[in-house]
Amino acid sequence: MTKIQHHLTDALLMGYAAGTLPEAFSLVVASHVSMCDECRARLASYEALGGGLIDGAEEMALSDDCFEAVMARIDGADAPAAPPVRRVRRPGLFPVPLQDYVGGDVEAVRWRPIGMGVRQAILETDREATVRLLHIPAGSAVPDHGHNGTEITLVLQGAFRDEDGRYGPGDVEVATEEMHHTPVAEPGMDCICLAATDGPLKFRAILPRLAQPLLRI
Ligand code: ZN
Ligand code: ZN
Repeated sequence: MTKIQHHLTDALLMGYAAGTLPEAFSLVVASHVSMCDECRARLASYEALGGGLIDGAEEMALSDDCFEAVMARIDGADAPAAPPVRRVRRPGLFPVPLQDYVGGDVEAVRWRPIGMGVRQAILETDREATVRLLHIPAGSAVPDHGHNGTEITLVLQGAFRDEDGRYGPGDVEVATEEMHHTPVAEPGMDCICLAATDGPLKFRAILPRLAQPLLRI
């Protein structure tokens, strides 16, 4: 694998360490972290920081004024724990956290066509956000779209380009509300990626928009 160029944001790593991300986003973060030494080190430092906050909270409990602040911190500590990031390597295309969700590697995925040769598989998570695998034929585009929330996309095979740059295996693109883009898979190899969104995508073209409720994209 070539060197990873595009990494997770601090906000995503902090949210993951605090256990506050929707399950769909946690899966993408855990998958990237399992492939990326740099983000694994950054995550470890946020986790250490989180532990420090809880220790500090115990000392502060001596004063009544601090009661609420302490309770808030303890509440934070009770947030559902993010799935542990394992460093185990298993043969296959998918990183281990993703293999655990899919129940196997790429051949276990039940793809559904969504038009223009693109296929997707939505993975089962809570309903706060959605995570899907996308299979984009080499040289093909995903329809031009904007986002109602945040979209994070992790490349697992091949590469795509959009208005923002090139994303190869292990790279993560974080697209926000303001961003409109048309990801195009590079020629030569089909692109497979894992994408989490916390709002429906906004398509410009009328056709994908009509099909949207059916396809859950
Ligand atoms: Zn990284
Ligand atoms: Zn997008």
